[in-house]
Amino acid sequence: MHKSHTCGDIRPHHVGQTVTLAGWVNRRRDHGGLIFLDLRDRFGISQVVSDPQCNADHELLGHARAEYVVQVRGMVRQRPTGMDNPLLPTGEVELEIHSAKILNRAKPMPFDVTDEGRVDELLRMKYRYLDLRRPRMQRNLELRSKVTTFIRRWLSERGFIEVETPILFKTTPEGARDYLVPSRVHPGKFYALPQSPQQLKQLLMVAGVERYFQIARCFRDEDLRGDRQPEFTQLDMEMAFVERDDVLGLLEALFTQMMAEVSDKQVMATPWPRLSYAESMERYGDDKPDLRFGLELQNITDLTRQCGFKVFEQAELVKGICVPNGNSLFSRRQVDELVELSKQLGAKGLAWVQLKEDGTFGSSFAKFLTPELLKAMIERCSAKPGDLLVFVADSKAITNDVLSRLRKHFGDVLGLRDPNVMAFCWIVDFPMFEWDAEENRWSPAHHMFTSPMPDTIQYLDTDPSKVIGALYDMACNGYELASGSIRIHERELQQKIFDVISMPREVAWERFGHMLEAFEYGAPPHGGIAPGLDRFVMLLADEPNIREVVAFPKTQAAIDAMVDAPSPAEPKQLHELHLAVTAPKKAE
Ligand code: ASP
Repeated sequence: MHKSHTCGDIRPHHVGQTVTLAGWVNRRRDHGGLIFLDLRDRFGISQVVSDPQCNADHELLGHARAEYVVQVRGMVRQRPTGMDNPLLPTGEVELEIHSAKILNRAKPMPFDVTDEGRVDELLRMKYRYLDLRRPRMQRNLELRSKVTTFIRRWLSERGFIEVETPILFKTTPEGARDYLVPSRVHPGKFYALPQSPQQLKQLLMVAGVERYFQIARCFRDEDLRGDRQPEFTQLDMEMAFVERDDVLGLLEALFTQMMAEVSDKQVMATPWPRLSYAESMERYGDDKPDLRFGLELQNITDLTRQCGFKVFEQAELVKGICVPNGNSLFSRRQVDELVELSKQLGAKGLAWVQLKEDGTFGSSFAKFLTPELLKAMIERCSAKPGDLLVFVADSKAITNDVLSRLRKHFGDVLGLRDPNVMAFCWIVDFPMFEWDAEENRWSPAHHMFTSPMPDTIQYLDTDPSKVIGALYDMACNGYELASGSIRIHERELQQKIFDVISMPREVAWERFGHMLEAFEYGAPPHGGIAPGLDRFVMLLADEPNIREVVAFPKTQAAIDAMVDAPSPAEPKQLHELHLAVTAPKKAE
């Protein structure tokens, strides 16, 4: 072994012992003929001191620069009085070096790996192996490992088994495009990388596994938007002989207990609040609400139906938010900025009322309404003198979307989004289908293996918009952390869903014949869920995006900047794969 202890180990009780440490030079200082090195490994930092009188290799160590890999052997001693470093767990002691070896040299770093300062993201990604040396990244990797270790233990103790499912598979639709892998031995044929192990885990239920989980890699070829990765990790789970509340109860226990073990953050409420999709949209305009604060949306559509003011009258949905004390928090100019922000978010505008302390008010639209109506609106929103009221009048989708974003913005401005609180909640009773106007057909709101709620099955034939799915989402602090459902386990019903979404029978059979067939061999009732691991760890680590908690992520342009992937293939490879590239070569 190159080391007898880690750089985080040594303590006063080691004083007098001879130890060997090895690691990277975090910092070097030369002082009165002595060389001081802060030696770092994953476990900590130790101060080591080279005195030419004691260290036979003093001169050699004189060449050591930042990030050189060195091994030192010496005696642990107490630091001289007043020289303690209370910031380091090893700060009361140091190592007096007797011999040293340089195990490897390092070129000057492209950026300082010893601190948390901002570094250009592309540079970080190009040198990700150096970026990962930074303390913050090391913490994130460790936290992620703690989370997966906890999950594996907790689920194993409850009768779950971890099963690996194939990466080379067939299309597993979750609403994105597939990544395809050409087959060399079957010309013209392709595997698809799984968007999730959905069908496989259901087939494991048919196989009698009953309680399955997997820390599963999923692949989705989506457009480059938002904080997404082409490949990401889910805690994929499935259980047989369960109903919705069994799944929710188990997940709630898993995450609540995990929080207590891996994080200092507080779970806001147990049991976790449950909201129907309709209620969540009504109160927050959002199906992944941040419940750390109120500022609920107030629906005033009924009040404005015949108000004579076209903007309100003709809108499908009119809703508002009351910002307590908003009149003093937002100056007139800042209110104008809110109007601009709303327009950027897609609204035609933002109507507002500033309620002054003296009972008077300023407003962008009061002159169009009767005083009685304005009073009724203010009352509906429970606004008091000093508050600010904002309203959006638009289509249902835009009103909810813009106000839900404004709500989060107000939450930030008012400091209501406490980073130390995790407000988990369940959203249930989602509509089963969405109308796809482009394709002119119904499409599954989640995926096509979700079971309809029994009391709404009747609408499959008459009005699919009324069918409620046995669906559930786990949301936390404004993010969707997981989706799941009770599944279909009967062939006829599965076929019916394919029919509702207008999938021709031959296509359904060609793509999903194995599912239809499997359901005829004693498939048990089953259901599951798949929490996104990256996003959960991102929240725990207070990181702004999931790239910070993935060891080797793609950039926002879906590129691996370290190895420069994707990259062109050799003509020989293409030939073997029976492929011809038709796309014009992009100028580099
Ligand atoms: N397969 C689903 C997804 O990846 C989750 C589930 O229904 O379990 O979103």
